[in-house]
Amino acid sequence: MPKGSLIVISGPSGAGKGTLVDRLVARVPRLWVSVSATTRKPRPGEMEGEDYFFLSAEEFERRVGEGDFLEWAVVHGNSYGTLASTVRDRLEAGVDVILEIDPQGAIQVKNLMPEAVLVFIVAPSMEELERRIRSRGAETDEQIKTRLATAVRELQLVETYDHVVENDDVARATDELVGIIESLRNSEGRS
Ligand code: 5GP
Repeated sequence: MPKGSLIVISGPSGAGKGTLVDRLVARVPRLWVSVSATTRKPRPGEMEGEDYFFLSAEEFERRVGEGDFLEWAVVHGNSYGTLASTVRDRLEAGVDVILEIDPQGAIQVKNLMPEAVLVFIVAPSMEELERRIRSRGAETDEQIKTRLATAVRELQLVETYDHVVENDDVARATDELVGIIESLRNSEGRS
């Protein structure tokens, strides 16, 4: 059975990655979104094992030591990592896997698995990005500043990515993502 492909999706907080990934998965069969581990505290409504595996700093550290992560990074002061075993099992089973991770992690994945396809989602402008983050109302002014500064820094890594998708319109951007996966499958004879 042909193996699945690894698709890495990154982009600044507020660019709309989560919405696009939800839409993508609803449209494309045989696609699985990896659930990361994090030391960040759950936000209201987030579910253990569904949004993240919420670990203590000690447990995260222990699992780093055991080599459990395909990649991991510190983002906004918390650790985040992709658990290698579940991803490898899915790929072996011929399922395409999506990692929604930050650029530090994306670069680690590209080094380990050069065949991984990296997609960067951008908002139409920094002003629009700020407006979207503020409209969620989830962060303090200080946190918003940190997130915007991270967005500027991350944009400098955009050249590492195979595709850049502008989320100007959710339906259009979803179509573009679907097209990327379909052409990937076509090129591998798996359509
Ligand atoms: P949030 O706390 O808003 O859910 O995520 C913050 C950032 O961490 C986002 O940029 C997200 O893509 C990134 N992130 C989530 N999971 C992982 C992971 O497993 N590894 C890495 N490197 N980044 C992650």
